[in-house]
Amino acid sequence: MMEPVKIMLIAACHKGYVDPELYDLIAFGRKLQALRGGAMGIWILGDAVDKAAQDMAEQVGLPVTVVQDQRLGAYLNETYCAVLTQEMEALHPAFVCTAHTSRGWEWAPALAARAGAGCICGVDGLVEFQGRLCFQRDLYGGKVKGLYASSADTTVITVQPGIFKFEPSAEASPAAPLIHKDVSWPSGRTRYLGSKKAEADSTHITSAPIIVAVGNGIGERENMELIHRLAKLFSHAEVAGTRILCDRGWLEYNRQVGVTGASVSPALYLACGISGASQHVRGMRGARFVIAINTDPGAPMFNEADICIVEDIVSFIPLLEDAFRQIAERSEDFSNDPKTDGRD
Ligand SMILES: Cc1cc2nc3c(=O)[nH]c(=O)nc-3n(C[C@H](O)[C@H](O)[C@H](O)COP(=O)(O)OP(=O)(O)OC[C@H]3O[C@@H](n4cnc5c(N)ncnc54)[C@H](O)[C@@H]3O)c2cc1C
Repeated sequence: MMEPVKIMLIAACHKGYVDPELYDLIAFGRKLQALRGGAMGIWILGDAVDKAAQDMAEQVGLPVTVVQDQRLGAYLNETYCAVLTQEMEALHPAFVCTAHTSRGWEWAPALAARAGAGCICGVDGLVEFQGRLCFQRDLYGGKVKGLYASSADTTVITVQPGIFKFEPSAEASPAAPLIHKDVSWPSGRTRYLGSKKAEADSTHITSAPIIVAVGNGIGERENMELIHRLAKLFSHAEVAGTRILCDRGWLEYNRQVGVTGASVSPALYLACGISGASQHVRGMRGARFVIAINTDPGAPMFNEADICIVEDIVSFIPLLEDAFRQIAERSEDFSNDPKTDGRD
């Protein structure tokens, strides 16, 4: 008989494919298992996910429970919560874990509230502290790390993608069971009507050699003009930014850098008024040289920067423009100087 599952890993699915964050989740689950023990299993919710579930069970050697229903074909917070509450009531797991994506971050706290469980979101570390198992997460936009312990019988956890690395086992995994579950739930109050794909990427931020990136520190919409002017000082520079500005409509979504945006690797990344939240930083770690301008000397963005400038971007960028202009004029004078013959 199988040991009852104490660690439930919930995978998101899209068009029959399991989202790759599941691998990070398995790595996190293994660490949790090493510290607290208990059997671990994967839950895949969706429509037409049989093949993906079978492959997963064979590949990672963990039991996979498939909850398959047409209504799970498209994500709805209400259906996820209804299905998973039933599973939690049946199993009484110690931990229910999912990836800290826009969706996971939405349904996990709702599920915890509905099931009377604890909830810790955005976990990026696991440590024993004063004899307790603690979950680590960013606080104040990444300025400090907080340690959280849960005293609840069941705790719902969202795990930051890209932190826990999945290592495939050197030996072939033993065959793991695939369990099909029929879960019924009353028709809910929300309905999925359809989704609209974002416009095709018309920018080149993923291949730009220079990126002038802007964050909430820009303050007013009118100040965005400063950023566009700054980008024009360089040849082949693109403007990009943080999610906050895209949500406000100050930048198109195809210019968002981060876990839910693009991953970029320019030669120069000029971060203007960006705090350095982990979700943003993960998208710009490939940059070869980073200059950050921020009024706060403790901004986490400075941990990523090669040059840190503690200044107000609104007053600093015009000074930078002047300096650029003067340098350009000087080099023009120099090349027009008959003594240098314009060749040096
Ligand atoms: C699931 C999930 C996914 C996410 N995905 C992304 C993502 O893909 N990309 C992303 O960017 N974010 C993402 N976020 C949001 C992210 O957590 C942060 O909220 C966001 O990156 C912060 O943006 P910011 O740095 O512009 O703003 P803030 O955190 O508000 O920081 C503004 C900074 O500007 C500084 N400042 C203020 N005034 C000035 C001034 N005059 N001059 C200079 N500096 C100044 C401040 O000191 C501060 O450091 C995600 C969040 C979640 C939960």
